[in-house]
Amino acid sequence: MAAEFDLINQYFRFSSTEQTSTLLDVETGVGDDAAVLNIGDSRFVVATDTLVEGVHFPVAMEPRYVASRAFGVNLSDFAAMGVRPKWLTLSLCVPAYNETWLAEFSYELEQLCSQYSLALVGGDTVRGNLCIGFTVMGTSDNGCLLRSGAQAEDDVWVSGYLGNAAAALALLQNTAHTDWPLTPSERRVLLDAFYKPKPRIELGLSLQKIATSAIDISDGLLADAGHVAKRSSVGLAVNSSDIPVAQSLMRYPEKKRISDWVMRGGDDYELLFTAPKHQRKNINQLSKQLGINLSRIGYVFSGEGILLDGAVASEQQLAGYTHF
Ligand code: ADP
Ligand code: MG
Repeated sequence: MAAEFDLINQYFRFSSTEQTSTLLDVETGVGDDAAVLNIGDSRFVVATDTLVEGVHFPVAMEPRYVASRAFGVNLSDFAAMGVRPKWLTLSLCVPAYNETWLAEFSYELEQLCSQYSLALVGGDTVRGNLCIGFTVMGTSDNGCLLRSGAQAEDDVWVSGYLGNAAAALALLQNTAHTDWPLTPSERRVLLDAFYKPKPRIELGLSLQKIATSAIDISDGLLADAGHVAKRSSVGLAVNSSDIPVAQSLMRYPEKKRISDWVMRGGDDYELLFTAPKHQRKNINQLSKQLGINLSRIGYVFSGEGILLDGAVASEQQLAGYTHF
């Protein structure tokens, strides 16, 4: 298992529900996309994600994209929980008092908060290397979608198209093949997947009554499928030919690289979810209603781990993106 998760498990799992049965107000602690806390008859949901310049986004990225990327990444965990986000705090670390930068960053953030009806209710501002951390909060009166509910025989689904954000990063880092035929609008779509990841909030909310488990794809398709498998104590089987890949990506000259972007590239922030077979019609209807591509890419089985085209996925395939 990746070192990042070893670190969390070794040092920061001390208040989790599994270990401290007296913490009855902690319904879901460390290990899911957000924590779920029982407060009265309601559930308070909270998640946090930090983005560091040069690690999560390229150095000198336009401030509006720093805002939209940090915002999308953070709200995505709420999409995976099937919960509407309501409040936000911002922990901002900037190298200098740069008015142009701050104006552009805050303008974009304000637009997004208004679009998603979120209130920025606090935060912290310090000087240092550029780093943005949000904490997102919300409430749910009708349960949450967890990583732990997948059942044997369920279908495995994903939203959107995978690999676009990883391909965009290759474009931004100038490591993409120069013979890749891309129209300007295709290029734009790919870059937007990285700059402005769309949190699938409405989809997550609609899946609340349909899906048995969900996760957002941040570490990579196979890695995140692995997290669902582990938390649900089941195995997930994925058919590579059913994974939705944009036409523009398919035209990339090296097949191996496409597969890497799609299977192991993180950052897509699409939802991976499981649902019983009898929900297929509802899911296809939902896809039409929301205008979001939803693809059935595999099934859940009793057992453990990830099968890719019938073969056990290797540690390397499952590794995805980790920090250590
Ligand atoms: P995600 O990609 O969905 O944001 P992560 O991979 O960052 O999730 O984290 C996995 C789980 O570990 C989450 O439940 C998260 O809240 C928890 N976690 C991560 N870092 C820490 C930490 N330093 N202390 C406590 N819990 C943590
Ligand atoms: Mg997540």
